[in-house]
Parts: sequence; structure tokens; C-alpha cells
Amino acid sequence: MAAAAVPADVYSVITSDEQVTKLFEYLVSKKKTAIPPAFEIVMGYHYPDIMEALKLTSVESISFAKKLVQMGLAAEDYKEQVVRCPFCNSEYTTVRFHCPFCNSTRLSKDLLIEHLSDGIIAPFSNYRKGGEAMVCPSCKRPVKEGEYRTVGVWYSCLSCGKQFDTPKNTYLCLGCGKSFTTQELVISSVNELKIKPEILDEFARRHMLLTPLIKIMTDASLDAKSPGTIVGSSGYSHIFSIVCTNKNGKKYAFDLQLSEKPVDETAVLSIFAKVVDTKPDAAYLITIPGIVENGKKIASVYNINIIEGKTIQEVIPAIKEVVSNITKS
Ligand SMILES: [Zn+2]
Ligand SMILES: [Zn+2]
Ligand SMILES: [Zn+2]
Repeated sequence: MAAAAVPADVYSVITSDEQVTKLFEYLVSKKKTAIPPAFEIVMGYHYPDIMEALKLTSVESISFAKKLVQMGLAAEDYKEQVVRCPFCNSEYTTVRFHCPFCNSTRLSKDLLIEHLSDGIIAPFSNYRKGGEAMVCPSCKRPVKEGEYRTVGVWYSCLSCGKQFDTPKNTYLCLGCGKSFTTQELVISSVNELKIKPEILDEFARRHMLLTPLIKIMTDASLDAKSPGTIVGSSGYSHIFSIVCTNKNGKKYAFDLQLSEKPVDETAVLSIFAKVVDTKPDAAYLITIPGIVENGKKIASVYNINIIEGKTIQEVIPAIKEVVSNITKS
């Protein structure tokens, strides 16, 4: 398994990308920790789960899988070898056997059979002269199952008539039509993607925490997105835990900060940096289990509203009040 280190703050890594978030929501809902590859003659190798969750094409599902691995969210588990064309990277290749003397591909293949009782070795076709039953070409006795063994393979060239045991291989790309040799071919692998259960659990825990808050907003007819993005005046899209919009088009940004001990002032600075660029109508920092005094001071200077609670249950009344004000704005 090739795996990048698990990112320290997995949740913010996942929610920094809308599509990755969508895929994780899909995985949580399907209770899946593995994304297996599949092969289909027209599409080639692809990841059906990624295609389904994100409405991507087969080719896009492959590059999305690579991105998940690069982000440290998934590990690769080898499943299958794939021979690719060195010219166009297509996986639709076929092997061709050639005569090593004249390069012809008009070959016939025969097995070399040893008659165990007399040790005679001859091509299989010589044992089948004239009928279905095998007859030894030397002693002329019938040869039954268990009285012979296969000792090798024999090729005959139908162009030059020479015989040999190892033909020359080349490969034909059915994508671009070019031929290539064993030295030139590209070997790659198809992997199953494995998501660490800890990563999925962490995502599910934090993402599901937001669900009751989003419900309060949508019940109040607000348009709530989680994670939500607002494009800043810099042109950069900033991501918040939730962005909700009221019927007058006013936008409100919420970030959730969850930790073991009270959140410190860096959380305020981090939402403030996004707020300066995106200018929502108001910004809220939900802190569980609360925030340090210094954080509160900075938040009031920067005009960031703090919502505190020891648990998500404790912040719900405050969220309801905020939502009721937003609907009236
Ligand atoms: Zn014999
Ligand atoms: Zn030949
Ligand atoms: Zn090709």
C-alpha cells in the first residue's frame, strides 16, 4: 500500500474541496471504506463510485482518484496490472506472436506430448492423425488420459515453414493502431482506493454535527450550503462550514471550530482573513466547547460573532435566534 501521511486536520482538508466533500458524504451514506476499480470494454478501468457520486466520466474518475491519494485521504491497494501503449497511453492493447526468422504472424501452435510408456515426444497433432482418439505416432498404441504429459509448446511458421518454441512478441494498440515491443510497453497498475476508517469517522462526526444546524436554516427557508463558498474580491473562493443566503440575497458565513479544549484566537484570525475578502453580511464562529477570553476580545474588534457551547445541543438555541434575525434582514 502506498499512502501519504494522514493530514493533521482531515476535516478541513476534505471540506476544502467541494467534490471531495461530496464523495465523502457518499461514502458515509453507503458505509464504504473502499473504492474498487472496475473494467468495462468501452470505458476501460474506472471507479464506478466516484463516477456515481460526482457525475464524472471514467477518465475523470481516474484522475480524481489520484487527487485523493495526493491529498493523503486514500491509500492505493494494488489490484491489477495494465499494459499501456507508449504512444497514446491507451490500455486497449493486444499481443501478437511473430516468427523469429521471417517476422510473419501466420503461426500455428502445437503442444509437445510425451507418451510415458515409451518416452516418445511428438507434436499433439501427430497423436490425432485421422480420428478423435489419441494414438502414439511411434508405437501406434492408443494413448489414454494419464498415459502422456505435455512437455512443451511448438510453433510453426506458415510463411517460412520454420519451427521454434519461443515466438517474438509485439503489441498492437487498438487505440492508435501503432505497434510496440516488450521493451517499449508501459506497465501501470490499477488500484483499489482504501479510506482509513479513522478519516471517515472524523468526517462523519464533524459533518453530521452540522446537519441539525443546516436543518434549522432550511426550515426557516434560508438557502444553506455546507461547506459553503463565497468568492472574495481577490477572485479566490473561500470555504466556510456553512454559508446561508436569505430571500434578499444577503449572505451569512458560519465556521465551526471543534476541539478538546477551548478554541484559541487563531480560529478568529482564520475566519477573519476569509471575511475581509468575501464581505458576508455577518460572520459567525461556532466554538465547541467554547473560546478563550482573548479570542472573544479579538472577535469583537474584528466584528466576528461568537457562538459558544459545550456541545452542539448547547449552541442550537443561539443558532435559532441568529436564523430568526437573518430571515428578517
Ligand atoms: Zn508410444
Ligand atoms: Zn517465418
Ligand atoms: Zn496507442
